[in-house]
Amino acid sequence: MNLASDLPEKALFALRELYQKVENPSFREKLDLIRQAYEVLYQEYSKDFLTGLYNRRSFEEALEKAIERARREEISFTLLMLDIDHFKKINDTYGHDFGDQVLRTIGQILLKTLRKIDFPARYGGEEFTVILPGTGPHGGFGAARRLKRAIESYPFEGPQGRVKITVSIGGATYRPYYRLGAREFLREVDRLLYSAKEAGRNAIAFKAELEPAPEGLTQAERALLFRGFKDER
Ligand code: GH3
Ligand code: MG
Ligand code: MG
Repeated sequence: MNLASDLPEKALFALRELYQKVENPSFREKLDLIRQAYEVLYQEYSKDFLTGLYNRRSFEEALEKAIERARREEISFTLLMLDIDHFKKINDTYGHDFGDQVLRTIGQILLKTLRKIDFPARYGGEEFTVILPGTGPHGGFGAARRLKRAIESYPFEGPQGRVKITVSIGGATYRPYYRLGAREFLREVDRLLYSAKEAGRNAIAFKAELEPAPEGLTQAERALLFRGFKDER
């Protein structure tokens, strides 16, 4: 979609819709209508309509920002990528509506299990990404494990009763000294997700270090570099 040309048109459309609901709006009401139109647009452009999570566009923006911040503030963050196991079979067996319900519920589980500052998104079909700001490998792996357990133990109700749903998770911590860009880091985490699938699914593959720390650092520099470790949750 072309943001520059689509956005004004969508904004005008949303505004016109809202305007028709209020006769002779006052200045204050006009401002309020604009605010509501903006809210409609924000939802439409940043969120996934099925799950209410952030969409891929927002995620990609957030990942770029997280990397910039990691480098500038010398603080690590963790990225998780989740993929529902055998989802095609779930759709085929219980129907597409049930599949959609599963996606919505997993969205809810992500929102409930994660912290407010975390950034869960629906990356695509049955794949989710989570950015955990300021979080090192200990906290990141812990979050992956909490999510995996919350999903495998959730009582999904299919048309013929209880259905067990599991996810595979790839995860890695981004260190301030990495030279990896967003695309490359994402590719690494996707590779880890693939190895969690290879390991038999309902599994986590997590890497605390993707690149070696730079050579020749003093103890103090090293401590500074690993500051993210200390306030890891
Ligand atoms: P694996 O364990 O290897 O991940 O197997 P899988 O079946 O989950 O993976 P595959 O990529 O073969 O299938 C993904 C399925 O997800 C196929 C597609 O129909 C389904 N899917 C994608 N988006 C949606 C959606 O919005 N709603 C529903 N109900 N299904 C979806
Ligand atoms: Mg998939
Ligand atoms: Mg899958």
